[in-house]
Amino acid sequence: MHPLARLDHRFVWHPFTQMRDWLRREPIVLVAGRGAVLRDVYGREYLDANASIWTNLHGHNHPRLNAALRRQLARVAHTSYLGLANEPASLLAADLVAAANPPGWRAQPKLARVFYSDDGSTALEVALKLAHQFARRTGLARRPRFLSLAGAYHGDTVGAVSLGHIDLFHAAYAGLLFKSDAVMAPYCYRCPFNRARPERADARTYRRCRWECVDQVERRLAAQRRRRGEPYAALVFEPLIQGAAGMIPQPPGWLKRVAELARGHGTLLIADEVLTGFGRTGRGALAVGPADMAEAPADKSSRVRRAPSLFACHHEGVQPDFLCLAKGLTGGYLPLAATLTTRAVFNAFLGEYAEFKTFFHGHSYTGNPLGAATARASLALLQSAASRRARARLEWELARELARLWALPAVGDLRQVGLIAGIELVRDWRTRAAFDLRERAGLRVCEALTRRGVLTRPIGNVVVLMPPYCTTPAQLRRMVGALAESIEEVLGRGNNRSR
Ligand SMILES: *Cc1c(COP(=O)(O)O)cnc(C)c1O
Repeated sequence: MHPLARLDHRFVWHPFTQMRDWLRREPIVLVAGRGAVLRDVYGREYLDANASIWTNLHGHNHPRLNAALRRQLARVAHTSYLGLANEPASLLAADLVAAANPPGWRAQPKLARVFYSDDGSTALEVALKLAHQFARRTGLARRPRFLSLAGAYHGDTVGAVSLGHIDLFHAAYAGLLFKSDAVMAPYCYRCPFNRARPERADARTYRRCRWECVDQVERRLAAQRRRRGEPYAALVFEPLIQGAAGMIPQPPGWLKRVAELARGHGTLLIADEVLTGFGRTGRGALAVGPADMAEAPADKSSRVRRAPSLFACHHEGVQPDFLCLAKGLTGGYLPLAATLTTRAVFNAFLGEYAEFKTFFHGHSYTGNPLGAATARASLALLQSAASRRARARLEWELARELARLWALPAVGDLRQVGLIAGIELVRDWRTRAAFDLRERAGLRVCEALTRRGVLTRPIGNVVVLMPPYCTTPAQLRRMVGALAESIEEVLGRGNNRSR
């Protein structure tokens, strides 16, 4: 075993990992990366097919991000944000507010303030605390309660876990958590209201339903008011696609309807764009073709060529009261997060010192200059025409490559939102019969993928592909080709209906 792997085995405890399994085999120790390729201690190369757990945007070792980071490093690495400001964090706040309020877009409310933290979980924790106090101070709710989507994952701090609905985590931390309510999330492939029989296509495209999932949200919002005499303080959601819940995409129109219903009840919107932000959802369309690759048409009223927004909410014309950002914020370089909110929320925390309306929350590394400088360079790249074209092209190529996987009977649903793909593995696509989690179907397919030099992690029986935006067509073909081979190797290629 490599000495670095031995040190890991001896001293380290890994996240979300059964360490007994981990200690059974030599871990991959990564030492370098360039573009979509990572290299380990033995010089073996791998394609980074989940963008290093959904964080990386432009590829590893990007010259522009490296330069921005080095420039800031030559000035100062970190200074306190308590009672002091710093250059890159001020500049980044202005950039983020501009990006969150696209020009020519009249959606309300305006996102006007940025509160920095370090990770997705803390970005949600900040939104949660702000919304809770806002609701009490304004009289919106005396005992603020939150509504979020079934299966949701919003992070691992105690508040963020409380907002989520993954039974496994709730069982583990029962007693530590506060209560929040769950409402049905659209999951067309496994929706009890979808009367369509399985086809070899994204379940959203052939579903047969009457938007019962939206009715359920409406009922929940109304029931809360009826029973408790006050609305939910906030609805928490991932726009367009739920990530860690299993890469579960929403049918077009769902978000807009649900957001309008919540607003109608006076409930605030907390958008968790930790995964979906920064161009990950492309144009947010169901499927794209070469014709869609042209840039967005000119906005007639302002005669400004409008670029598609970097945020998923905006694809449905929804502007939240809280926009939570992390993972891709620094292009996958450093832990930095931001919670954007409105002037109304900000104003509720203004007062005389002795009123103690201050937002009592913060972290030692709040507003970290290295992270902020890198994030600015990443945003500038994202807004360049070259990056927009590359993303549109990759989105289209991903759709084309994924289509090959329908030939495999173990592929039940194939869902893509922009540059995010979830491949749901099933025992029998005709019945949608699922594998028992203990069979480790997703894990075994990903292990076979690793042997072929492609790195990603499954969520249960859903394999995730989330290539960095710099992935070349040849690299993408290798990722999907290796996935097809791995599924065949592990789950067979024949008609497995009889098993
Ligand atoms: C990853 C993730 C989080 C948590 O972010 P961390 O940086 O891991 O704390 C929260 N929400 C969503 C949607 C995520 O994907």
